Amino acid sequence: MSTQRPPLLWLNIFVFVTSLVLAVIVTPWYAYNYGLGWAHLVWFIIAFSFTNLSITAGYHRLWSHKTYQASPLLRGIFAIGGAFSMQNSALHWSSDHREHHKHVDHDTKDPYSASRGFWYSHIGWMLRDYNQATYSDYKNCRDLKKDNIVQWQHKYYVPLTLVTNFGIPIALGVIHQDIIGMFLVVGAVRLFLSHHTTFFINSLAHIWGKQTFTDKNSARDNGVLAFFTFGEGYHNFHHLFENDYRNGIDWWHYDPTKWLIKACSWVGLAEKLRTTPQLKIEKARAAMLLHKAHLKLNAMDACPTLKTKLEQEFDTLIASMSDYYDSKKQLLQNKKQQVVESYEMSLLVLRHQQLKQQFEIQKQLWQSSIKRYA
Ligand SMILES: [Zn+2]
Ligand SMILES: [Zn+2]
Repeated sequence: MSTQRPPLLWLNIFVFVTSLVLAVIVTPWYAYNYGLGWAHLVWFIIAFSFTNLSITAGYHRLWSHKTYQASPLLRGIFAIGGAFSMQNSALHWSSDHREHHKHVDHDTKDPYSASRGFWYSHIGWMLRDYNQATYSDYKNCRDLKKDNIVQWQHKYYVPLTLVTNFGIPIALGVIHQDIIGMFLVVGAVRLFLSHHTTFFINSLAHIWGKQTFTDKNSARDNGVLAFFTFGEGYHNFHHLFENDYRNGIDWWHYDPTKWLIKACSWVGLAEKLRTTPQLKIEKARAAMLLHKAHLKLNAMDACPTLKTKLEQEFDTLIASMSDYYDSKKQLLQNKKQQVVESYEMSLLVLRHQQLKQQFEIQKQLWQSSIKRYA
């Protein structure tokens, strides 16, 4: 195997170093000497949200994973925001990301493999030409070749990037009579933070957090990261259920990307939102707890009857869980189609309530056992 490292990518290095210096050194110096106002802060928040959501809702959940369908207007907005965020074209980004999911943690096939450490998965993979051989190979994105907005953005990516990154901050600077200040805050600081918060999903979200649903890959669920990444921090769930338009599945999970997609569906900008059946999610969560308990019991050299008892409790839980979700589904279908008589319906409701009660009891039993062993 050759030990020679691939050549450095000087353009990428220039962008990362320049935005770092402008954001961390020049902007505080400028703020101290000339002052910055509310307008800078408000436009920073708008531009930061616009670029990051274009990546999370557009590049990631729409184009890479096809978790929903979007109208041409919404796709156009995401294409502009994606160029503004300077993370390559949607086609290129999606191609890399599909390889990441397909070969997650593989040293060479995963383009930003966390198995190669924090630095490599965060930014190192973009500083050298590691993917020289496959750079323009978009075989895994044939579907995106039919999306004319993706093709248009890919073709005009460089001019779009220059126009958005210089044009928007300068135009705001003219309006608010502070071209340098707006260029620094909405241009450099926004780009620097937008880059690194997105990069955290490839680095920290594979290192720091809980493995709630699977430990077959390094992806983690992390509420703190979700806050800085517009909901992408629930990465363990995402790697197991990548076709789900949500990353944070509980209502209290902070996932603005999911809320944006849902809101777009209400006004006709998005449709066919895909979700994972709740039963499948709950099964995976319980199976992971059983697996963790097994590991702990093995390490303790515990008596085999304990393991058998836990397995039996797990089987009972899954059985009652399946009954509950089946009856819920049946109830909803009947309500929707209005095919059954009202007395039949009340029987179904009664049965459903019984199953719900059984499932709640089983869940409590399971949780108290798992607290002891997992
Ligand atoms: Zn993904
Ligand atoms: Zn990942």
